[in-house]
Amino acid sequence: MSDQASTYTDPLALRLPVHGEEAPKTYWHATAGTAPYDDGVLTQDLTCEVAVIGGGYTGLSSAYQLARLGIGPVAVLEANRPGWGCSGRNGSFARPAIGRIPYEEWDRRWGSDTADAMFSEALAALQSVREIISEAAIDCEAMPEGWLKVAHRPEKVSALQAERALLQERFGLDVDYLDGERLAAEHVRGGEAYAALRWPVSFAMHPVKLAYGLVNAAREAGASVHSGTPVIGLSKEGAYHRLTTPAGEVRARRVIIATNGYSVEKLFTPLRNRLLPVLSNVVVTQPLTAEEKAEGNFHTTDCISDTRKMLYYYRRLPDDRIMLGGKGPVRPGPAAMARHRDALLAAISRKFPFMKNPCADYFWGGWVALTFDSIPHVSTAEDDRTLHYAMGYIGSGVSCSIHAGRRLAEHISGGRQELPVPMSRGLPKYPFAAFRRVGQAIAMSWFARKDERGL
Ligand SMILES: Cc1cc2nc3c(=O)[nH]c(=O)nc-3n(C[C@H](O)[C@H](O)[C@H](O)COP(=O)(O)OP(=O)(O)OC[C@H]3O[C@@H](n4cnc5c(N)ncnc54)[C@H](O)[C@@H]3O)c2cc1C
Repeated sequence: MSDQASTYTDPLALRLPVHGEEAPKTYWHATAGTAPYDDGVLTQDLTCEVAVIGGGYTGLSSAYQLARLGIGPVAVLEANRPGWGCSGRNGSFARPAIGRIPYEEWDRRWGSDTADAMFSEALAALQSVREIISEAAIDCEAMPEGWLKVAHRPEKVSALQAERALLQERFGLDVDYLDGERLAAEHVRGGEAYAALRWPVSFAMHPVKLAYGLVNAAREAGASVHSGTPVIGLSKEGAYHRLTTPAGEVRARRVIIATNGYSVEKLFTPLRNRLLPVLSNVVVTQPLTAEEKAEGNFHTTDCISDTRKMLYYYRRLPDDRIMLGGKGPVRPGPAAMARHRDALLAAISRKFPFMKNPCADYFWGGWVALTFDSIPHVSTAEDDRTLHYAMGYIGSGVSCSIHAGRRLAEHISGGRQELPVPMSRGLPKYPFAAFRRVGQAIAMSWFARKDERGL
C-alpha cells in the first residue's frame, strides 16, 4: 500500500485496520528524534489481564495507569507505530476541552450540576496531562500556559465578550479580554484578528515527543507495547476475550478499545454506526525571517484558534515556523488534499500578512472522531462489562484522551466510575448512519458559509 492510499483511506470503508505503516511524514515525526524501543510485533500467543487496542494517547495512558495501579499484565497492540494516528499528527494544543458544545448550552443540555461536573472534568483532563509529563519526566517542549481565541470577524467580538462573562460568572474561570490593539502589542499583529479571549490554562507541546514519552512510561511501569500488531478479530470465549493478530493470539480478561478515528467499526460491535471519522489537516511553513517576525511582533508561544465554527488553529513553533490546521476534505484524494493544503496556506497569508511567501514544508492529515452528541465517551459495552472503550474527542483530544485512559484504569482497578454521566454513557448511534458522509458534506458547506459571514 502506498503512504497516501492507506493513511488517508476512509476508515468507514475499511474492513481491516491500516497496518505495518511507518510514521507519517509530519513535522513532529521529523523533529522528535529516535523513536523509543517497544516490544515489537507480537509473534506468539499471549495471555494478559488487559489488552489495549491502539497505541495513541488513549491506549498508552490507559496502559501506564493500569500498570501503575498494579493491574497486569497489560499489553498494548498497535497496528502501526505508537503515535502513528492522531496522537502524532495533532496541532499540539493541550486544552481543557470536552467535545465541541458551546458553553452557553451546557446548563440547558445537562442541568447545572452536571454542567459543573463536566467543566471540572475538563480542567482535570488538562491536569492529567501536566501530571503525566512531570511524573514520567517527559521532555515534550511544553510551552507556558495560554490559549488565545481570536475573533476572525468584527461581528464575533460581542460573542467573545459574552463568552468571557459566562466563563467568569457561571464557571468561575478568569479569562482575559484583549482588544485588537492589545492583541497586536502583546501577542501577534496579524489579520483576521479583531479581539481575543485569553485562557490562562492550555499549553502547546511536541505531540510525538509526548507519545514517545508515554511509550517509555508505560513500558517502565510494566506494560508491553507491541507495534506492527493489528487486531483483526475480537471474540469471547468464557471469561476471556480472544484478540486475533496476524502472528499471535491474545487472551485477555478485559479489553480497552482505543482506536478513535482509526476504528474499523466492522471489527468492534460496540462502535458500529457510532463514530464519524473526519479528516483534519495541518500545514507547517518555512521559518519566519527575523524581519518578518519583527514586523508581525510574533512572539507569543500561546495556542491560538479563531472563532470560526470550522476553526483554524495555529501557533509559532520554537524554530519560528508557523503551524496552522483546519478542516480536511470529506473525501481525500491527491487533488482534494492539494486544494486543502493551498487553502491552509491562503489562511496563513490572511492571518500573517507579514510572512512573504508561505510554503508548505510539511503537510499532513489525520482522522479525528466525531460523535452524534458531540462529546467523548469513556464507557463499557452494554452486553459485556469487561469490554471498555474511550473515544470521540471531536478533534480536541490531547488532554481528554490522556485523561480518559486514566479514568478507565481507575474504573478497572476499583470499579469506580467518576466521570460525569454524559461521558460515561455508551456511544449513541448515528441515525441514518449509512449517510454520515452526506450529512458531513452538507454540514461543512453550511458552516463554511456562516463562518465567512461572521454568523
Ligand atoms: C490534524 C489534527 C490536529 C489535531 N489537533 C489537536 C489539538 O491541537 N488539540 C487537541 O486536543 N486535539 C487535537 N487533535 C485530536 C487528538 O490528536 C486526538 O483526539 C487524540 O490524539 C486521540 O488519541 P487516541 O489515542 O484516542 O487515537 P489515535 O492517536 O488516533 O490512535 C489510535 C491508534 O489505533 C491504532 N489502531 C486502529 N485500529 C487498530 C486495530 N484494529 N488494532 C491495533 N491498532 C489499531 C491506529 O494505528 C492508531 O495508532 C488533532 C487531530 C488531528 C488529526
